[in-house]
Order: sequence, then structure tokens, then C-alpha cells
Amino acid sequence: MSSNSRRPRSRNRPTGFVLCATLLLAHAPSAVATPAPSAPTSTPVDAPPRALTCLAKWYPVLTPTRLEAGWGVRLPDGRAFLFDDGQQKSFARKLEAPDLEDTLSLPYRTGPIAPVVREDDDPGRIRFDPLFTATYGDAEARVDVVPIRFLGQSLKVHRKVEPVFQRLAARLEALVAKDASLRPFLTNVGGTFVWRDVANTRRRSAHSYGVSLDLNTARAHYWEWQRPRQPVRWRNAVPQVLVDAFEAEGFIWGGRWYHYDTMHFEYRPELLDPDCAPAR
Ligand SMILES: [Zn+2]
Repeated sequence: MSSNSRRPRSRNRPTGFVLCATLLLAHAPSAVATPAPSAPTSTPVDAPPRALTCLAKWYPVLTPTRLEAGWGVRLPDGRAFLFDDGQQKSFARKLEAPDLEDTLSLPYRTGPIAPVVREDDDPGRIRFDPLFTATYGDAEARVDVVPIRFLGQSLKVHRKVEPVFQRLAARLEALVAKDASLRPFLTNVGGTFVWRDVANTRRRSAHSYGVSLDLNTARAHYWEWQRPRQPVRWRNAVPQVLVDAFEAEGFIWGGRWYHYDTMHFEYRPELLDPDCAPAR
């Protein structure tokens, strides 16, 4: 599958404002005009970081906002957060107290499945909870889930990502029709909506929002299950075609993590969109 076909489709993002800005520039007075005394003298175009604009494309609850200390976001409830808080953090600290920029700091790579051997190379495990609670709901009763049929099973997923799950189901149905050996991975799937914390932490699990799915646990490998516990030794049995199908619809896969969780898929289109990679 080409890398193009794997790119998640943009959801109803208007490009009009970009176009308008371009037109305005094109029709601006010629460069010889003297700026008015009140014109800003700092950066001529004070635009938000590209990664932040990209993130707001996938999560329209985010309004990029110029804050005193730099670019940030405002949420519908009025709270504002810096995009980059400027702190140097260990990986553990990024998990516990990330800013939005930290959540994008580890590149997610598609392509041929390969063992993950670099310690803490876990793109997607860093999550900024206010973004997810604002997008999907901040309490179990406020997560708007709908039932779907998924390869003969009934699952509950968030209403906002229901079309994504439908497209995914259609892709997987087509694959199973061609290759029946894939079906055991897709039986007893679950975990799409479970309001809970990540085991042994106070962080909200991605399963709390109805945007994740676990394959059949009998065909999965998970770093927490391995014995002895250390060192972490990556293992996987999930076939490439299944991973490709999920990634094509904007899901990341826990098999691309050092702390591997090969049953786990999670809708995180920002990590599959090259425009969301922070500048280095
Ligand atoms: Zn999971």
C-alpha cells in the first residue's frame, strides 16, 4: 500500500481561511508603503507553530491562541494551555505532565513491522488529557457512544469517530474475505469503551473515550505480561495487513511501542499526519 493511501483523510477542515489570507497578501499594498506607526514591529507574521495548526485541524475544540508566554490553545470551557511549556522532561515526566507539544514529540512510523528496541520509544503513549476530555467527554456519562456492528460483533464507539470505525470495519471485512487466517485476530475484539485509568496509574486510559480497540488477547503480546519482566523484549504476531488497515484510517498501533501492546489500536490521526510533527 502506498504511503499516500495510508494518510488519514482530513475531516471537514475548511481551507478557506488559508486561501483568504493568501489572497489578502496578494492584494496588500506594495512593499514600498510605509507601515502605520501602530503596526507591529516584531515578527511580521506571528503564526501559530505548524504542528499546533495541524493538531487543531484534527481536534477542532482547540483554538490556537497567543498567550503571554507563547502560543497555546484555548478550550471551549475557557481554559488555556501553552503548546510548549518550555520544560525539559524525562519520558516518565512527559507521561505524567505533558504539554501538547510533548504528545507529538516521538515520531510515529508506519511501514514494515519491526522490533522496537529503543527504550521508551512509545509514540502515542503521551496523552494530554484536557484535549481528550474536551473532545470526547470528561465523565463516563458524557462520553457519547453509539453501537456499531464490527465483523459480526457489537461494539460501542464514540459518535465522533463512528464513521472512521465503519470505514475500518469495511476494510477489515474485505481482508478477511480474502484471507480467513486473519479472522482469529478479529474475534473477541473489545475494549472500545471502558471508562478507566491506565493500570497502576492515575492517567485516563484511551479506552475511556471510545476511540480505541483491542484485538483478540489470545493473539496478542503485552510487555506487562512478559516474564521475566525485564528487560523488555518486543514480540508480535499481528500481521502487517491488519496494521496497515488500521493505520490507513488514522489509528496508531501499540506494536510500534517499546512498551509493546500489540492488541491495542487507538484513533490518533495527528500522529499519522506529517504536518503535526513539531519543528526540530
Ligand atoms: Zn488497548
